Amino acid sequence: MNKIMPIRLSKSVYCLLDHTNIGIIEDVDYLILVDSGLNSENASEIDKLIQTNFNKKIGAIINTHSNADHAGGNKYFSEKYNCKIYTTPKESAFLENPYLESALIWGAHPFDKIRTSYFECEKSIATDLVNENSQIKLNNGTIIKFISLPGHFIDMIGIFISDIDEKNTIFLGDSIFGAQMITKYNISYMINVSEFKNTLDKIIKINSDFYIPSHGTIITSKEELMRVAKMNKNEIDKIQNYLLFICSTPMQFDDILANVFNEYHIRTTASQIVLIGSTIKNHLTDLYCNKKLEMICNDGRMFWKKI
Ligand SMILES: [Zn+2]
Repeated sequence: MNKIMPIRLSKSVYCLLDHTNIGIIEDVDYLILVDSGLNSENASEIDKLIQTNFNKKIGAIINTHSNADHAGGNKYFSEKYNCKIYTTPKESAFLENPYLESALIWGAHPFDKIRTSYFECEKSIATDLVNENSQIKLNNGTIIKFISLPGHFIDMIGIFISDIDEKNTIFLGDSIFGAQMITKYNISYMINVSEFKNTLDKIIKINSDFYIPSHGTIITSKEELMRVAKMNKNEIDKIQNYLLFICSTPMQFDDILANVFNEYHIRTTASQIVLIGSTIKNHLTDLYCNKKLEMICNDGRMFWKKI
């Protein structure tokens, strides 16, 4: 971490490539961060690196969404700098109640193995709520706009920055996963599959000089963006085709998940069962809504079957 330096994209915009990429927008007297790191320890490392390079206080954080790997440093930065926190209304509900993150993914009151910093970050309070009509004009003339990007999470937002040197950058949150992430993980979390796909269609229409997925490398051309978007869509098609294949005969959720773990060589732990299990349920919902799967309830059991 200490060896990584912020990459300058335009006069006032930088990117710190990390486990979750961090955006840095420089105004005259302060900095704005896009997302805040994994946890307080990671935030403290990011802070040290930023102070070495900029020596300016953090005036605000903009959270693309509320997941722990994007908002885990909120508490550290807001306590140290008393900075503003911008996000959307629904994501702010999760920032204020991190319990909801693990409760949502488990679908019930969560147990200790998923009440970790991987799923639940420390609580923070959003000071400013934004939506697609919001705009922030910095003292140096840089303009920040917001683009709604739902699908991976409920009310995720992209941050589009028009710098005074006329270079544009968009921080895309988890609306698109970098090529290496797709190859490495194969099953990406998304709460609403059809919204995730619509959001991919939306972002490939955006003209920008730099496109930054939160997990992956900086994308510098429309062609590359379209290639990575296609990889994200192929990943969805692959898992959904596999689900339809195994549901040729009626199958219960636990058996579906066991098949997926075997097919994708996923290590069986409580957190993976809960995380991948939630993702697979979201795919089942999508296939059911698109009339590709039917649900059969019988003798206290729920079966899924290809139509
Ligand atoms: Zn993420």
